[in-house]
Amino acid sequence: MPTYSDEGIVLRRIDYGEADRILTVLTLEHGKIGVIARGVRKSQSRLASRTDLFTRSRMQLARGRGELDVLTQAETVAATPLRSDARRAACASLCAELTDRVLESHHADPEIYALVASALAACADPERDPRAAIVWFARRMVDRLGYAPQLLSCVSCERRLPEDVAWFSAPGGGLLCARCAPGDPEATACTVRVIKVLRAAADGDEVLWLRLRLDAATLETLERIVESELAHHLDRRLRSIDVLRAIEGRGAVRVPVD
Ligand SMILES: [Zn+2]
Repeated sequence: MPTYSDEGIVLRRIDYGEADRILTVLTLEHGKIGVIARGVRKSQSRLASRTDLFTRSRMQLARGRGELDVLTQAETVAATPLRSDARRAACASLCAELTDRVLESHHADPEIYALVASALAACADPERDPRAAIVWFARRMVDRLGYAPQLLSCVSCERRLPEDVAWFSAPGGGLLCARCAPGDPEATACTVRVIKVLRAAADGDEVLWLRLRLDAATLETLERIVESELAHHLDRRLRSIDVLRAIEGRGAVRVPVD
């Protein structure tokens, strides 16, 4: 069997047979691939910890006959120790689920790879707020899908937006002015601050993003916006969003226009 090596992040895994695992791995050079890790559930397997969820490793793989390549060796690049923190683990799951859902197999994209690696690192970093990292990540992913929102002028009347409250409409594809807002009763009211943060994210300005101090209300509005975008653009709801909501003790969000 021909072999190759690549760096990869485990997005999903299921137990298979007596001691095997089937993994969905996002690789740097080969995109998203299916991998079988044989015998990793045996206690003496050296590969076990390298097939943990969200682990980033340098992998040796052999091309399989079917859909799955075979993991033969792996060396950890960055472990993601999240098990002790349910909220961080839920944020990382959301990141992995969204990545798995959005990306096609065998389509390498180094920029996406870096984005996923950095989001998972942020979820594991005690100095970082995982929710802010997830909002950034999800926004970038939605943009990569080709749904960059319109944030400078109203998506309905095309008038330039004043420095004032505006309403984010996921079906509309961006912000609505006060006059047009009633057109989407589920649009989310955004303060000037939220709009500024959305524009920073749209510019892909991560340095500015990391410098912004997101207070609880701003972060919650941003989460609501990203969730509404994901709900609108993906055909099925992400399971990890519900898990995260449950952990944070919040129900599904339905916000009327102010
Ligand atoms: Zn308008």
